[in-house]
Amino acid sequence: MLSRFFKSGGRLANSPWNSTPLRYFSSCPVNQISRARYDQLRLDPEKHKVYVEKTRAYMRQRRKDPEHCAKLRVQKEKTYARESFRRARLLHMWCNRYVWFREELPWKSRRPLVLSEPTKHYCEGCEYTRFGGMKMWWFDSESYMCNACYAKADWNEVMPKGYEDCRNIKEVAARKEQLGALPDANKPNSVS
Ligand SMILES: [Zn+2]
Repeated sequence: MLSRFFKSGGRLANSPWNSTPLRYFSSCPVNQISRARYDQLRLDPEKHKVYVEKTRAYMRQRRKDPEHCAKLRVQKEKTYARESFRRARLLHMWCNRYVWFREELPWKSRRPLVLSEPTKHYCEGCEYTRFGGMKMWWFDSESYMCNACYAKADWNEVMPKGYEDCRNIKEVAARKEQLGALPDANKPNSVS
């Protein structure tokens, strides 16, 4: 996913970093320059600090631009309208809140994995290893996939066997009870 972002990235004409290929997708510093350049900067704390401060100042300036804010609003509305985005948010919430959801259901191609610390893995969908890692992954015996990539498939594919038509956690809990177990959907489990 990110690799595709990087490949299609644009340049910011009036940015403080005109000499570098700048990306236009978020205010996150890592998206403002090439991956290789950013990895180099991370090795030098002073240069990294200067870069982050300049980027923040630049983004503060951009957030005051009404035209830029209007574009961001449109982008956000488009993102929230995507079913795969809503599916990813639900899966992330259910996996993080309910241990039984991620550990006791008959998952198909991959199983959810929630970690206490961000961990780096190569995502089969993104074809990329995110620098800071992530706390949640979907894994099979050989590979990992980030939640956003996993949720791109339709409900039939991402939900456990027998739960394909469930669209909220109470329906999932009721189905689990129907199939022979007794989870309490109103009692969030701690993340382990
Ligand atoms: Zn991914």
